[in-house]
Amino acid sequence: MPHDHAMLTRRDMLRGAAGGMLAAGLANPLITAAQDAPKSDRKIGWALVGLGRLTMGELLPAFAQTKHCKVTALVSGSPDKAKKLAEKYGVDQKSIYNYDNYDEIRNNPDVDVIYIVLPNSMHAEYTIRGAKAGKHIFCEKPMAISSDECRQMIDACKQANKKLAIAYRLRYEPYNQTAIQMVHEQAVGPAKVIVADAGFNLPDPNAWRLNKELAGGGALLDIGIYALNATRYLTGEEPIEVNALIQENPTDPRFKEVEESCVWQTRFPSGILANCSTSYAYNWQNRYRVIGTNGFFDVDPFLAYRGLRMSVKRGSAEPEEVQLPQVNHFAAEMDHFSQCVIEDKEPLTPGEEGLMDHIVMEAIYQSAREGKTIKL
Ligand code: NAD
Repeated sequence: MPHDHAMLTRRDMLRGAAGGMLAAGLANPLITAAQDAPKSDRKIGWALVGLGRLTMGELLPAFAQTKHCKVTALVSGSPDKAKKLAEKYGVDQKSIYNYDNYDEIRNNPDVDVIYIVLPNSMHAEYTIRGAKAGKHIFCEKPMAISSDECRQMIDACKQANKKLAIAYRLRYEPYNQTAIQMVHEQAVGPAKVIVADAGFNLPDPNAWRLNKELAGGGALLDIGIYALNATRYLTGEEPIEVNALIQENPTDPRFKEVEESCVWQTRFPSGILANCSTSYAYNWQNRYRVIGTNGFFDVDPFLAYRGLRMSVKRGSAEPEEVQLPQVNHFAAEMDHFSQCVIEDKEPLTPGEEGLMDHIVMEAIYQSAREGKTIKL
């Protein structure tokens, strides 16, 4: 539930392992951004483009947990699937579009926001067409398949005077938000090193994620991006140096076109170093550790849809588990964007945030290709 945290009193938080730090965290605008008291009861109309696993499994059900969002249109290449889902979620049959007549969405006053949930290489086209149709855009990660495309998407939304945000859901939930605050407040002393791993075993050799044209890259673009993005939001800094190694593994039929695994290191301006990995070849990659001069904390898992956990170790004390509210990431990020539309505010994760990840990912690929450190 996105608003579960309301049930947790300030005293409960103070009693928690992270004590005053968490109480301070609650006062932070980063942490409350997605859950601000609504200034209006208005519900923003959302069109979902692409009715795949994420849309059906998470996004459509999440609308019931939002305060400011309703699903008002569907865009799909499968009319039967769209019709059934429209019936199930109360979408007007007249508000079903396909990829050809998508632009007609401009004439639908019930749609304020378009949420792009397509394979990565289609994000740019559907964002640009959506902005030209006069709608605000919420786009899945990775934002696109190149930094050039990201710039075109940002320009198109600016020209249309429409908002653009990237669906970095972890920025809208308490574990990752508290971790940001803990680095900021030096909860384990000044941070020195972040270790982050994000990946999973992808068994299906026919998945679009393994097709270079549709995915744009391999494990790094799809899932390693969570580790990269985490190092950026935890430090609040942009990397200045990147070092990387890639394992292509073309002997495995899955990895004929995109990389299997990637490890990279980044240096941040304050001196914090990050050591990250991603792979499509195995599971158990879903954690980060922030190591400071007085201890460390782990968020493990940090990117699962639910069940995130955190523990903190200070000095020689035993690690302490930190209990925070579990919220629906998708409801929280959609509500945030709707509030931005209602109140005409800048989203927490605008297009520029997606662009920056692509700039660093391009440097990671370049470093691996050229066998040298890339300065940013
Ligand atoms: P999916 O394969 O389950 O769904 C993709 C949808 O796009 C399908 O409905 C498919 O029919 C449609 N599509 C249209 N043209 C297509 C084409 N040429 N080839 C393949 N499919 C085509 O994928 P998904 O897992 O729902 O991922 C969609 C997007 O959402 C991706 O960008 C992915 O990175 C992102 N995603 C984000 C999260 C998250 O936690 N934020 C989780 C999963 C996926």
